[in-house]
Amino acid sequence: MNIQYIRNCYGCGLCAIACPKRIINIELNNEGFYEPNITDITDCLDCGLCCEVCAYTHKELSLQCRTPKSYAAWSNDSIIRSECSSGGIGFELGRTLIGKGYHVCGVRYNTELARAEHYIATTIDELRPSIGSKYIQSYTINGFSSINRKQKYLVTGTPCQIDSFRRYIRKFHMEDNFLLMDFFCHGVPSMLMWRKYITDVEKKIGKLTYVSWRNKRTGWHDSWAMAIESEFNKKMPIGGNNDVLKYKREHFFYSRLSQGDNFYRLFLSDACLGKACYTDCKYKDLQSSADIRIGDLWGKTYSQNEEGVSAVLTFTSKGDELLKWCNCTLVEHPLEIVTEGQMKTCPQRGYIYNKAMAVLMDENATINDVASAIKLPLKLNNLMNILKHPSKLYSYIVNRMKKI
Ligand SMILES: Cc1cc2nc3c(=O)[nH]c(=O)nc-3n(C[C@H](O)[C@H](O)[C@H](O)COP(=O)(O)OP(=O)(O)OC[C@H]3O[C@@H](n4cnc5c(N)ncnc54)[C@H](O)[C@@H]3O)c2cc1C
Repeated sequence: MNIQYIRNCYGCGLCAIACPKRIINIELNNEGFYEPNITDITDCLDCGLCCEVCAYTHKELSLQCRTPKSYAAWSNDSIIRSECSSGGIGFELGRTLIGKGYHVCGVRYNTELARAEHYIATTIDELRPSIGSKYIQSYTINGFSSINRKQKYLVTGTPCQIDSFRRYIRKFHMEDNFLLMDFFCHGVPSMLMWRKYITDVEKKIGKLTYVSWRNKRTGWHDSWAMAIESEFNKKMPIGGNNDVLKYKREHFFYSRLSQGDNFYRLFLSDACLGKACYTDCKYKDLQSSADIRIGDLWGKTYSQNEEGVSAVLTFTSKGDELLKWCNCTLVEHPLEIVTEGQMKTCPQRGYIYNKAMAVLMDENATINDVASAIKLPLKLNNLMNILKHPSKLYSYIVNRMKKI
């Protein structure tokens, strides 16, 4: 038994890490998602380890969900809070654990390879590139394969990556050395889309040297914004003893969803997520195999907050204890408040997906071509949704009236 017939899975890479013969490669498939490939099947020992650690092939999660504790949280360090995607809890958990001798396996963006990837941070300085969400699927192999079984780690990732990861550390009796953190996950978009997007940006500003997906310049609620630095943008030393922001980010190229950014239009409209995100995501809402889950606390309670508030769920006492050691403010709230606004079910894959994928797979098409191809179907879809839900119809009319 092996993963040779597994296609369109989570692409978490744990099968490759577990394989004793190292014959599994993780590569992008033709739709732009990571997938395992066995290089030489004649070398397979038929040990079944690749399937054993694979969350995609198991119905049950590796951690059975008990009712979690739920919090609003934010870093007490205002600079960290301003740089992170929501309240900066991801960074604060890492910083606290590094202080306790742990290493952190998080995600950074590699501008040379134009991909997000897991890596190991052993110092606070090394942890900095993990700040902020990279809204693309991460390549896990370098990070996961550098894990030393005798060391303690915080491992962060999408819920599906973390579910497989728990299976892996349980299989090799290492669970005590690990603390696992995932996030409420919308899904991951195709790398074909990301590549077309950056090709378009690079035409305008030259080779990218830094990318931040979330930028709070005009507040947290309007933080669906790319802030991009390129070889032509100057870096301005900020001076003083500010050790977090090494440079003033004054010369960034900014592109916001509210002004029609193509990456966010395609990502947030669910036009080109991984097939597994539509049909096999078992991790919405409270379903998690992590010790801690983080996300944006988008609900009414913090609707006036513009600095960023993290939603935090702790599923284990280990996770809850760690949270209390961090340099952050914690407010316990009922689950309905903390999870308000989160997706409760998987998105639908239909006509818009087929249309977007067909254009994405055309090598000559640009990101504008993809966005144009789905513009009308998306409008129709939104209209249908509004008509199906009277409450949405009411707020739609109110919003239109305000604009007149
Ligand atoms: C693909 C994706 C989809 C998401 N969907 C939702 C959602 O639907 N609802 C919601 O509330 N939040 C979602 N988030 C999480 C959200 O964007 C913030 O990461 C979260 O609010 C934590 O913010 P923070 O300020 O504490 O994060 P930070 O302190 O900035 O930490 C971010 C953490 O996320 C990890 N990370 C970053 N990019 C990736 C990646 N591509 N793959 C794996 N790990 C990564 C980093 O290693 C770091 O630990 C999503 C994140 C990603 C990457």
